[in-house]
Amino acid sequence: MARRPTRRPIEDGYFTIPEGPGEAPRLLGSRCKACGEHFFPRRVVCARCLAEGCDDVLLGPRGHIYTWTYVHVPLFAKRDRKVGSYGVAQVDLPEGPRVQGILLGESDDFRIGMEVELDLETLGVDADGSEVVIFRFRPARSAGDATGSDRA
Ligand SMILES: [Zn+2]
Repeated sequence: MARRPTRRPIEDGYFTIPEGPGEAPRLLGSRCKACGEHFFPRRVVCARCLAEGCDDVLLGPRGHIYTWTYVHVPLFAKRDRKVGSYGVAQVDLPEGPRVQGILLGESDDFRIGMEVELDLETLGVDADGSEVVIFRFRPARSAGDATGSDRA
């Protein structure tokens, strides 16, 4: 009774996990019914106009780096050397929110203003055999295969 490994987020409610290979992970955000402002993470009350009852929406999966830095301390105390250092960026999503996230790549791979896209990384396997994943941003692949919006 071999079971297919499943993936689950390290914490529910922040991003989706694709069902198939052609699908991109998305951030789970909110859109205010009254003023249209978008938020990440999700909210019940709009931070702009204080209206209640925001709708859940999918955000990204692409955005542009507002600013970033590189950290030379292991992530989550992981002993794996390939993640011994990592980047952290604030990414402006086309819908409006500025999201902080970890970067997947080397320090030479990033610059302010460049387009990045959401991706998932497996941190480990839980007791049920499910892969525990986090979201990261990595340099965007060619614009032709974008699954999200390129609205500016
Ligand atoms: Zn509002």
